[in-house]
Amino acid sequence: MKRRTGQDRAITQNWRPATQAVRGGTARSEFGETSEAIFLTSGYAYDCAEDAAARFRGDQQGMTYSRLQNPTVQMLEQRIALLEGAAACRTMASGMAAMTAALLCQLQTGDHVVAGRAAFGSCRWLVDTLLPKFGITTTVIDARDPQAFIDATRPETKVYFFETPANPTMDIVDLAAVCGIAKERGIVSVVDNAFATPVLQRPLEFGADVVAYSATKLMDGQGRVLAGAVCGTEEFVENTLLAFIRNTGPTLSPFNAWVVMKGLETLDLRARRQSDSALQVGKFLEGRVQRVLHPGLPSHPQHNLAMAQMNATGPIFAFEVDGGRTQAHGLLDALELIDISNNIGDSRSLMTHPSSTTHAGVSEEVRTDMGVTENMLRLNVGLEDPLDLIDDLDRALKAVGL
Ligand SMILES: *Cc1c(COP(=O)(O)O)cnc(C)c1O
Repeated sequence: MKRRTGQDRAITQNWRPATQAVRGGTARSEFGETSEAIFLTSGYAYDCAEDAAARFRGDQQGMTYSRLQNPTVQMLEQRIALLEGAAACRTMASGMAAMTAALLCQLQTGDHVVAGRAAFGSCRWLVDTLLPKFGITTTVIDARDPQAFIDATRPETKVYFFETPANPTMDIVDLAAVCGIAKERGIVSVVDNAFATPVLQRPLEFGADVVAYSATKLMDGQGRVLAGAVCGTEEFVENTLLAFIRNTGPTLSPFNAWVVMKGLETLDLRARRQSDSALQVGKFLEGRVQRVLHPGLPSHPQHNLAMAQMNATGPIFAFEVDGGRTQAHGLLDALELIDISNNIGDSRSLMTHPSSTTHAGVSEEVRTDMGVTENMLRLNVGLEDPLDLIDDLDRALKAVGL
């Protein structure tokens, strides 16, 4: 029965990642389609009334409603779980829906969260604004220092939440050290792995409990859809996360699930190629600007740690010019090939000025604390020929006197 081998975990877990990325989770319908079908349906029909009752009782296998189950979405979830090495995965409509669900599903009033200070703007909003509204206290720390997690931990600390590499400063968190500290204390570590994806970094292998994604980024990888995912143990996903998402409804559309599934087929190729190109472009910039923040370059203060826990360092890095916002904006405006855009993980090269875009919503004090300066630009290196990107940057740098 080759039709459903993609769903048989006993078989698929022995496949190598590139095979899992193409075939994991696939469940062919009776038509034997080669590419996965898009089941754009909100509901399901039953052969008889007793079947409907049995399915609602849980005595009969099958789907009842697409907020709860959908065949296309399930294929994607199985594929991501396989790639991540996780027992289970659930997807959501966006990365932020995934982050919110991963935190709120397990927290309650009186709990405490320790979070990395360098984070995606909306992740900081969850920590600084949303959680405290419900009586969940939070402490924001410099996550580069594992000791800072220990110092911030209280008896009521329930979760450590951080990303690595962190957006946009490219701070690296020592996964083994921090997840180990969490385990010793019975604290749940939630890692936002959007910058890396399982191709570049697998936090569960370093002891993380929960891995959360914006699949909008490298997983789709072609700037088409928003999506999110949360991976963890069967116990966490089935007993803690599932009730929260089924009843609050941050459901991923089957169409968007299909697009991300197609993205996963080429994820390994794209992530490695874009990492190589980003290193080449980063080396060029090192000779031209004040400071390059790229974990793949020996000049990055945490280069050795990045190389120890990542397979490659990804398409995204930051750099600083010396003339503040005026020069940074001037450089963006002088680009002819690279787009001015705040997305990342795209197959197109995109550049943004974080302090006036992605991090404009956080206060200047918080930006300074995170290391997001007016001089900083963030570059996502795409699949174009890196020499054309270097030509474009060279021209733009000259235009602003660099
Ligand atoms: C983009 C991003 C998110 C949010 O994901 P969306 O899909 O845009 O909702 C969260 N964390 C990180 C690190 C991101 O880069």
